[in-house]
Amino acid sequence: MNIIMFGANGSGKGTFGKILSDRYGIPQIETGVIFRDNITRGTDLGKNAKTFIDRGELVPDDITIPMILNRLREKDCARGWLLDGFPRNITQAEAFWSALQEEEIQLDYIIELVIDRETAKKRIMGRRLCPNDNNHPNNVNVEENKPVEKNGKLYCRVCGRGDLAIRADDQDEAAIDKRHNIYFDTNSGTLAAINYFKERVKVIPVDALPGVKQVSAYLAKTLE
Ligand SMILES: [Zn+2]
Repeated sequence: MNIIMFGANGSGKGTFGKILSDRYGIPQIETGVIFRDNITRGTDLGKNAKTFIDRGELVPDDITIPMILNRLREKDCARGWLLDGFPRNITQAEAFWSALQEEEIQLDYIIELVIDRETAKKRIMGRRLCPNDNNHPNNVNVEENKPVEKNGKLYCRVCGRGDLAIRADDQDEAAIDKRHNIYFDTNSGTLAAINYFKERVKVIPVDALPGVKQVSAYLAKTLE
């Protein structure tokens, strides 16, 4: 099963991606990881990409797309793959779709985690990190993941640790808005990319607002 998963920052994309990846035994593929891997291994594409990254520029699609295609041809993708975080805009969607057609790589589904912009932002800003385990879900803005509150102090809802941390990135509203501006742009951004795919592939919209269990159950039912 070959899947692209879309979801704004704060939609829980990483969590749901991991669940699907485990369930179907397919790797979760992120472009950031592919860049780092190609750079570490010193591939031609990696060396090329590095010159852009070092200048603080975006890596052009004619480097990124061949890297992704190489990754999709690796052994662990024999049963399928779950691509996460690409394409981000309409131009990349068109180029990637053409490349998939040329390489005769099938794309089975697009999963779109649907969340409104305001809620996504609140979820990011409400995250609290447990020093014992990053996977202990604590979020002051998500009802089902609220940390335990005692005498005005917050404790991890899983293990009870009292020194939950706030990540600076999660409070950087300008950075959150910048990413969301790209995602929620229906003219040329990620939502435009999803619309482009709607005419070509089965797009499954999934309400990201219910709890993880409900969303996972819905995904399992829909994909089988
Ligand atoms: Zn904990």
